[in-house]
Amino acid sequence: MEVVWFKRDLRIRDHAPLAGAAAAGPVLALFLHEPEIVLAPDFSAAHGAFIRECLDSLHAALQDRGAALVEMTGSAPDLLEQIWQQQPFATLWSHQETGNWASYQRDKLVATWCSKRGVRWRQTPQNGVIRGQEARAKRDWLAELDTYASSEPVKAPRNIVPSGLHPMLVASVAPLQAAGHDKPGRVRGGRAEAIRLLTEFIRTKIIRYPHAISSPISAEHGCSRLSPFLAHGVITMREIVLAMNRRVDSPELAVDRYQRERLINALRFFADRLRWRAGYFQNMESMPRLEFDNIHPGMNGLREAEFNPSHFACWRDGETGYPMVDAAMKMLQHTGWINMRMRGMVLSFALNELWLHWREPALFLAREFVDYEPAIHYNQMQIHAGTAGASSMLAYNPVKQAQELDPAGVFVRRWLPALRAVPDAYLVAPWSMPLTVQAACGVLIGTDYPAPLVDHLDAGRRARARVADAHIAAGIRLRAVRGGAGQKMAGASQDALF
Ligand SMILES: Cc1cc2nc3c(=O)[nH]c(=O)nc-3n(C[C@H](O)[C@H](O)[C@H](O)COP(=O)(O)OP(=O)(O)OC[C@H]3O[C@@H](n4cnc5c(N)ncnc54)[C@H](O)[C@@H]3O)c2cc1C
Repeated sequence: MEVVWFKRDLRIRDHAPLAGAAAAGPVLALFLHEPEIVLAPDFSAAHGAFIRECLDSLHAALQDRGAALVEMTGSAPDLLEQIWQQQPFATLWSHQETGNWASYQRDKLVATWCSKRGVRWRQTPQNGVIRGQEARAKRDWLAELDTYASSEPVKAPRNIVPSGLHPMLVASVAPLQAAGHDKPGRVRGGRAEAIRLLTEFIRTKIIRYPHAISSPISAEHGCSRLSPFLAHGVITMREIVLAMNRRVDSPELAVDRYQRERLINALRFFADRLRWRAGYFQNMESMPRLEFDNIHPGMNGLREAEFNPSHFACWRDGETGYPMVDAAMKMLQHTGWINMRMRGMVLSFALNELWLHWREPALFLAREFVDYEPAIHYNQMQIHAGTAGASSMLAYNPVKQAQELDPAGVFVRRWLPALRAVPDAYLVAPWSMPLTVQAACGVLIGTDYPAPLVDHLDAGRRARARVADAHIAAGIRLRAVRGGAGQKMAGASQDALF
């Protein structure tokens, strides 16, 4: 019997462990609901619900090929031992995981269990990560990433011989109650939805993508929305790259050079983001404590002692008095997604204007983001906090963001109904409304909508100065970047998508 352990790779295509196991013999396809993962402070009911839909879709895909997905609840080494007692097996197949600390610790225990039982654990690399790569040059890694990303996805096995082990003998799915509630406006999980989003994005939305990503209004429908599917491995980078290359090669573009050039530029812009993603995975692989510790130890002690719980609660609940920040938090509560600019802006407000240490906001946002991906998430936290050392500090002015990205107040009025009647001229800074205007529009600041928690100009300036001083003291050269600037990964190919 070949045991295939599905983790954050809920698919059958481009799944080398499944393909390898199916070729080697009868397969037990396994998913584990682990208390160490599900009850951790970065997991939420919305993740659980999204994963549930993906598991149902995976189960159906396996059934089509003759197998089934066996789900068990408990700690991984205990459950593997339970299976082994039923039927000893020689090989455990899975992907390598570059996840959170809990998954890293769990993998170490599983490795110990495997060596105790003489089980060979075959782990296939994924997400462009090269294990043990730390000492190698970034340029080499990028070249290898591009080779990996443009290689053909592994075909799904046509038939899978199920293991003789009856699922009922081992299946023990007792539900684990994750924190929070599901989100009414979240994207639905499953492979069919991932393929639908990818197809629609590459066929039609991609052309406008570079201009759509910043404003929360255009980004909602202009971004790919593939992040939760990538995070749970329902679809892979290689599959996306294949779809991108096919689009470039489509016959209708052969005759229209202008359109082809526009498309290629948009695809390159998108490809850069997939490269950033892979880069953050590689960072996490070499710094597994990224979710707890400042990347640069010289930044230790900068914010820790000044955590203000009531400021945190106002930020979390979308009650800071800054409409753009509050509207983004309300959208997040409802949908489990906001675009990158809004993520940066709400985080920057927490870390700078409210001077909160990054750890609590990071955990809160991890539970809120249905696409929570530890590698991207914690790298972003530290870049925004200015604790990443050589990298930049990102800071956003919430009033300017509102003026530039939501000048007519469409986004703010949608997510903050209390402000609907506020005249356009005051919507970005409602506290500046004269009392007569407040009375006329029926919105009293401090009663119907909060007064600003802090003076953002003062607080933002002070925060930037404190970070800059800490950088100087730690010998870090700060490249101050105002919000909105892009990230560049040096060495990314200029003449090919991948
Ligand atoms: C503070 C903060 C926290 C974030 N946390 C997460 C997270 O937990 N999980 C997550 O998937 N993304 C995270 N991001 C990155 C980015 O905001 C999301 O990937 C993106 O908004 C998801 O929407 P999309 O799939 O429509 O993106 P698209 O714009 O369509 O991009 C396609 C894919 O590229 C990758 N990508 C896009 N932007 C980035 C980026 N800046 N860095 C790395 N990869 C990127 C994602 O996998 C994304 O799905 C975070 C960004 C910030 C500023």
